[in-house]
Amino acid sequence: MSALSRPEFNSEEAAFAHLEKIVWAGMPVCPHCGGVDRITKVKANLAKRIREGLWRCGQCKGQFTAKVGTVFEHMRLPLHKALQAVYLMTSSKKGISAHQLHRILEITYKSAWFLAHRIREAMRDGHVGQFGGGGGIVEVDETFIGRLKGKEKKAAFHHKMKVVALIDRNTGKARTLVVEGTTAKHLMPIVLANVAREATINTDEHWGYRPVRDYFAGHGTTSHGTGVYVDPANPENHSNTVEGYFSIFKRRMKGIYQHCGEQHLHRYLAEFEFRYNNRVALGFNDPDRSRQALLGIAGKRLTYRRFDGVPHA
Ligand SMILES: [Zn+2]
Repeated sequence: MSALSRPEFNSEEAAFAHLEKIVWAGMPVCPHCGGVDRITKVKANLAKRIREGLWRCGQCKGQFTAKVGTVFEHMRLPLHKALQAVYLMTSSKKGISAHQLHRILEITYKSAWFLAHRIREAMRDGHVGQFGGGGGIVEVDETFIGRLKGKEKKAAFHHKMKVVALIDRNTGKARTLVVEGTTAKHLMPIVLANVAREATINTDEHWGYRPVRDYFAGHGTTSHGTGVYVDPANPENHSNTVEGYFSIFKRRMKGIYQHCGEQHLHRYLAEFEFRYNNRVALGFNDPDRSRQALLGIAGKRLTYRRFDGVPHA
């Protein structure tokens, strides 16, 4: 027995039953008319080209599967392989590349690449609610992502991708967002939207955070420029957690994902954030994490049109 010997990873029928349980919680809903009565299962029949997982609505006569309205809609791959991919991606500590998925699942590299992005989309958090509620400490930092060659280096500041991360010390959760720039004009709206006013915010001495003290309960800074990373008078005053978060993200990006176009960065960030926020130290195991990712597939319909720049294998 292995984790991948479970029925939903090996049969289409079991795979759909698994997805239906998560998407509908036991009650099929017609995506065409919203009906919940007179919904019947259509028996799969390969000879008659009737696919697995099909349901029929007695009200509008429409047909549908549990994939409609999720990141798996319009996916041609067998669902049980997609579920294997979710499990592999959510259980591997460092993530898994499209190349590895392509080899393990025996699907084309292109299919694996699309599948990985569908799953990243499922991992994307809605970022509902604020960090630091009840007066905790929230660490905030910003960084640049991306490698630049030759001429590009001169304009590095403008070309590199900019990202802000927030970490709630009380819950241990992280939130990451792509930003246009790193001045107060760009950073403050993010901090104001994502952090409760009663919180204390810890940052480095970047001037983009200067207005923080006017809006929040406190602003702790450490002067990294002069080599101070922890305030000896107040050991709580540091932003080392968020800096560690970025350094691991950058290492992963280098090691696993060869290059990352700007249009995909938010999905890689979402994947990294998902793994961090559902980590073992916070009480999550592999099946929990896989289930958590599947819960995120609904309401995130994704089509091929939204993907530009598919890399070559
Ligand atoms: Zn209907």
